[in-house]
Amino acid sequence: MVSLPPHKLATCQWAAKAPESLHRALAECGLAGPWIGRGAAAEILSSGGAYALCLELGEALRLDLPRLGDPVLDAGWYIYAGSARGPGGLAARIGRHFRRDKPVHWHVDRLTTVAGYIAALAVPDGRECALIARLAASSGFAVPLPGFGSSDCRRCASHLLAWAPV
Ligand SMILES: [Zn+2]
Repeated sequence: MVSLPPHKLATCQWAAKAPESLHRALAECGLAGPWIGRGAAAEILSSGGAYALCLELGEALRLDLPRLGDPVLDAGWYIYAGSARGPGGLAARIGRHFRRDKPVHWHVDRLTTVAGYIAALAVPDGRECALIARLAASSGFAVPLPGFGSSDCRRCASHLLAWAPV
């Protein structure tokens, strides 16, 4: 039996858990990978750029966001896109997303603190709105909550998409 180092195992857990149709849809949007799981943030470059998170909510989640009407997200798979241009770049930002224990600051923290499976795709020099545009053009992804994570963005309806295969 081959024993994998823990971070490889973490990546494999996400890869094995995510539905095949989701893998296929991501690949069709040009986001085949490499997706990196929890515990492997050390493999992510500290350069700046954009990233996508793919995460699973094991059960429905009520969000404490009065301005958005305290909405409920259904259980399922979600993609969030963001950017990291500060100190530590993508590695620091994605490492933070992978930690469950942290102060809730951004909208997406409400998901990453409870997500079961999570993986990230780093796109050095990328733009989060371009990632969202690629995914939103595919029929498999829908906007679950207008305004989520995109308060500063005039272009995207949301920086969170739900995997909603037709
Ligand atoms: Zn945007």
